Amino acid sequence: MQGKIIKGIAGFYYVQTEDKLYECKAKGIFRNKKMKPLVGDNVEIDILDETEQEGNITKIYERHNELIRPAVSNVDQALIIFAAKNPKPNYNLLDRFLMMMEKQDVPVIVCFNKVDLAKEKELKLLEKVYENCGHIVRFISVKEEEGIDEIRELIHGKTTVLAGPSGVGKSSLMNLLQPEAQMETGEVSEKIKRGRHTTRHSELICIEKDTYVLDTPGFSSLFIHMFEEDEIKDYFQEFAPYEDECRFQGCSHIHEPDCGVKKALEEGKISKIRYDNYVNIYTELKEKRKW
Ligand code: GDP
Ligand code: ZN
Repeated sequence: MQGKIIKGIAGFYYVQTEDKLYECKAKGIFRNKKMKPLVGDNVEIDILDETEQEGNITKIYERHNELIRPAVSNVDQALIIFAAKNPKPNYNLLDRFLMMMEKQDVPVIVCFNKVDLAKEKELKLLEKVYENCGHIVRFISVKEEEGIDEIRELIHGKTTVLAGPSGVGKSSLMNLLQPEAQMETGEVSEKIKRGRHTTRHSELICIEKDTYVLDTPGFSSLFIHMFEEDEIKDYFQEFAPYEDECRFQGCSHIHEPDCGVKKALEEGKISKIRYDNYVNIYTELKEKRKW
């Protein structure tokens, strides 16, 4: 039978088939090959016990992609959620997340929640900071169910990684997106519930057929040691149109004279917040290398 791994805990893989959830092991076949099952994998299972809903994974179908952080396969996009206010957005964390996803070739939807709390002026400012960042940006209020239909459309038929710091409304959004029916249906949810009571792991939630959201634990920092400082500027897409005007090739846009990017910054064509984050990340990586 075919299914999808929606969660992995302590050697068990929870495989969602058309109508049931099976608790599976991956015995034997993966030991020699270096392929470990991943959340997101489409797999073939042998059913060992139908009433206990236990099975064994016998085959992993080819992956479209494989993220390292979070560890998940077959991802179409990421939805990063921050609050427009309460807590106020941590731009630096957001920019690091954007870099991480871009490096892994995952398109990102940036979502600012709690617009009901923010003033018009504050939203305009947020909009301005990210208008040329190259990602889709949306403003929503889970509380007032504003902008939620569009989020539904954006995730429809796809597998989306949902991420963001704590307190921004991730769980509230998940509750809104998840159909009640699925939460309550007897046997299926028994196994899911059992898993839910353990420590929080990343878990794929089936919103509807072929629509999955990976609910990841909130995070407050992101290591970006896998980047070279010289490549950071490539992830700030709004710099690109001005780089031709830099006097030096390979200009880092920090200390060099006659820098097109710094000129654009002074003229207000590039957001100061984004530029400062760039400098912060560049400097951090450079310092690390010295050690
Ligand atoms: P999580 O930590 O990201 O999962 O955040 P929660 O979903 O637990 O939400 C944190 C708090 O923000 C809760 O008190 C929610 O009721 C509140 N909240 C979530 N969405 C909104 C919103 O759109 N507007 C307002 N005003 N509050 C919200
Ligand atoms: Zn420059």
